[in-house]
Amino acid sequence: MSTAQISLFDTKSRKLQPLKSSDGKRIRIYSCGPTVYRDAHVGNMRTFLLGDLVTRTAKFLGHDVEFIQNITDVGHMSEDFVEDKILAQAKAESKDPFEIARIYEARFHKDLSHLNITPADKYPKASECIEMMQDLISKLIAKNHAYVGSDNCVYFSAQSFPGYGAISGNRLDSLKPGHRFEYTEDGAKRFHADWALWKAAGDRTQMIWDSPWGAGFPGWHIECSAMSLHYLDKFVDLHLGGIDLRFPHHEDERAQSNCAIDKEAVELWVHGEHLLFEGRKMAKSTGNVVLISDLIEKNIDPLALRLCFLENRYRSQMDLSWESLKAAHSLLQRWREKIKVWQQDSNIDSPLTQKLIEEIVTDFRQDLDTPRALQKLRNLEKSDSISDGSKHLVFKSVDQLFGLNLLNQIAQKELSLDAQKLLQQREVARKSGDFSQSDRLRNELEKLGVAVKDSKSGQSWDWIIN
Ligand code: AMP
Ligand code: ZN
Repeated sequence: MSTAQISLFDTKSRKLQPLKSSDGKRIRIYSCGPTVYRDAHVGNMRTFLLGDLVTRTAKFLGHDVEFIQNITDVGHMSEDFVEDKILAQAKAESKDPFEIARIYEARFHKDLSHLNITPADKYPKASECIEMMQDLISKLIAKNHAYVGSDNCVYFSAQSFPGYGAISGNRLDSLKPGHRFEYTEDGAKRFHADWALWKAAGDRTQMIWDSPWGAGFPGWHIECSAMSLHYLDKFVDLHLGGIDLRFPHHEDERAQSNCAIDKEAVELWVHGEHLLFEGRKMAKSTGNVVLISDLIEKNIDPLALRLCFLENRYRSQMDLSWESLKAAHSLLQRWREKIKVWQQDSNIDSPLTQKLIEEIVTDFRQDLDTPRALQKLRNLEKSDSISDGSKHLVFKSVDQLFGLNLLNQIAQKELSLDAQKLLQQREVARKSGDFSQSDRLRNELEKLGVAVKDSKSGQSWDWIIN
């Protein structure tokens, strides 16, 4: 397989750019990870899928990839900048903040596996990288890019980095004083757009560490600079995150990292657009939050969500609904059933399948054009001129990219023993032509929430969607 290139839309240069390995060995990818104070909602999951899609495509093309995603378990403040998100949740649940972080971190990994998202190579936790952050802050102070303020917090001097604003377009001269892009007292800072790298503990007693500047805790932005430079050996070929992180998170990270290593630290900045749900922004405050567990509760295969995401290009805003999830669930089931039938055919047109696979791979290579790639699968499904065997081979090969587990009949919940017994009895009844018994058993199964379907490949079942 040739190591063909992937192009992605780079937010900084505002154009498509090739994704390259700067050391000629592996493509180094860093993605901002979850803040583990609550379950990730399906909007977060859309952004987390991005790393998986790039990684799958790169690996399919023969590239080596090193992928790091951080776990934010300290320093991410609430929107009103009053409290650390983890500490606030710890108080609400009457638990230790580290316990909160570990609970939601474990649930994040579970959600990733439900969506068939390939795990990153490492998931460093912010709370375990404090020394690394302190070293970076000391370095920035030594190079006059940072200073200790009158409140014992350490600030980055925004004006010391002339390239500020290149990712988001928010240049320093357009940032007005009083703009709430940082939450510390302006009085302690030399310039209103400076931001805290290290915060003095003040009244805070939990999640604080000793430092050369007194007890305190790190800012959120320094975390990603420290971890990306450390774990990826001082250069990032591709940096990923949701669109809202462009400013100030990524802008500040770029300033810190570039000033630490005296050169551009990230080659490509790629951002995923937001997900809306039934026309509204997904936010806890408006009660419009959908979780993977909500899908499972309704008997919707979580991979139907993955399919919905793939129906939209990562950089266009998308609106999800229960209707589209149900339609995607049915489409997945239909494909899985057809694939079972197609695989019985041994007639394969190799040059044609190769061509079809390459066309789909090209869609992925061209800025992850997954909607176009899916359209090709739909056309292939309907084609009268292509053999079943060829269809099976194409679906099977490209599922390495789509990651929809098309070759498996996935059950999200274990079938009860009663339901298993009824299914077996129905199979026997059907085979012996006892259709009234088979209909009776179908009704019994329906009462248990199981829908039975008959097709050329035999009897199959699915949970009835609530
Ligand atoms: P958080 O756990 O809040 O730190 O967010 C994790 C990731 O989800 C970040 O990259 C955000 O940019 C991204 N994100 C937040 N809301 C949405 C949304 N509605 N749609 C897509 N991505 C989102
Ligand atoms: Zn980050």
